[in-house]
Amino acid sequence: MTKVSDIKPDTPGTYSPQEFKPVELKKPTREFCKTELRKRLMLKRGAPRDERELDMLKYVLDALVQVAEDESHVLRIVAECEQRDYFPDGYVIRQIAGATKGTERRPNPKCEKCDGSGFLKPVEKGGYTGVPTTADGKPLKCDCWRTVERV
Ligand SMILES: [Zn+2]
Repeated sequence: MTKVSDIKPDTPGTYSPQEFKPVELKKPTREFCKTELRKRLMLKRGAPRDERELDMLKYVLDALVQVAEDESHVLRIVAECEQRDYFPDGYVIRQIAGATKGTERRPNPKCEKCDGSGFLKPVEKGGYTGVPTTADGKPLKCDCWRTVERV
């Protein structure tokens, strides 16, 4: 257990006190997603009932497979769908997935190439200091962005 005395105060200038720990996500299989949908949502209003409606299930399943980051995320999405009256469509799946994500992309706060901003530091070139940009003038993203647990 964390004692209060173990909690370090925020360091000024850093946006987050927690450690930077990239995570590996294992995408759920289509089979896993399908099983969860069938097991828990097929009694909902608007759920596909016969062969003609199975295309609809395919779209919902496509959306779920595409947006779910891992199996536990699938379970959170389906659990949220269970709270609703109607069988979800692809749009609802995407909306819920965004709200229940367990991770996000963030730059390494200790990166020396960008000082944790996620974009390369200004460089001096021919007496002129500027931020490195892409061909169309956007700030160049650093390569230290990783998937980390969402806080
Ligand atoms: Zn960086």
